[in-house]
Amino acid sequence: MRTSADQIAHLAAVVIIFTLALVAGERLFASEPVRVNERMQNLISEIERDTRETRPYTGRSRLQASVLKAMRDVDRSRFVPEDSVLYAWENRPLGIGYGQTISQPFIVALMTDLLDLEPQFRVLEIGTGSGYQAAVLATLAKDVRTIEIVPELAASAAERLAELGFANVEVRAGDGWHGWPEAAPFDAIIVTAVSETIPPKLLEQLAIGGRMVIPIGPEHGSQNLTVVEKTTDGIKQREVLPVQFVPFTRSDTRPEQ
Ligand code: SAH
Repeated sequence: MRTSADQIAHLAAVVIIFTLALVAGERLFASEPVRVNERMQNLISEIERDTRETRPYTGRSRLQASVLKAMRDVDRSRFVPEDSVLYAWENRPLGIGYGQTISQPFIVALMTDLLDLEPQFRVLEIGTGSGYQAAVLATLAKDVRTIEIVPELAASAAERLAELGFANVEVRAGDGWHGWPEAAPFDAIIVTAVSETIPPKLLEQLAIGGRMVIPIGPEHGSQNLTVVEKTTDGIKQREVLPVQFVPFTRSDTRPEQ
């Protein structure tokens, strides 16, 4: 009889432990999406706060609702290296290898906002990096072409974007200095690496009435996010915000110069 009492006690213990594990496991799984939503909400709040605080520079106290929605809809954690996933919802740049970075979410949101995108727009990005900015653009515009000078980054971004279903983005490996002449003109051009001057080919490939958002300045020194507008009367340029970007590098092969 003793044995069977022991057995029952043992069985009861197993059942209790199993139930506890099940409950704990369920909690863990159930809480994960909540935490992600919470982190995303915090990030959006930080973007909104940065927007208000930089208003004296940018002239914009709030971003377009469509831009904030795109920031919510594109999962940044899919664009950062595996060991940085925990930081994906933080408002800061992160390393993506090859000495390059995925920009701070506020800067991605601000640059997107400054482009004043419309659903029928065709957009060119220079500096694909992880593909995150391209994904945000692709949720707001018709067609996005993006050029990346580091071939490995171009390949992994193309693969990632295809996997995530961004069918309206085309990635090209190469030096963005030359733009994408076959697909020009573009309604909007965004450059995510800092250049001393506006690359002339990009200006040529911008449609009349179109806008370019580009950081301008020296690699180590004062850089300014700049909005360039191409009008029938010529080029209008205004500095929007002091920034810090990785350099616009040049390939050794310069086919057109
Ligand atoms: N937009 C990216 C962040 C890019 S960081 C993202 O969302 O992740 C800037 C990128 O510009 C880097 O990947 C760098 O390799 C690339 N780059 C620098 N010079 C370039 C050039 N001449 N042509 C194309 N890409 C360039």
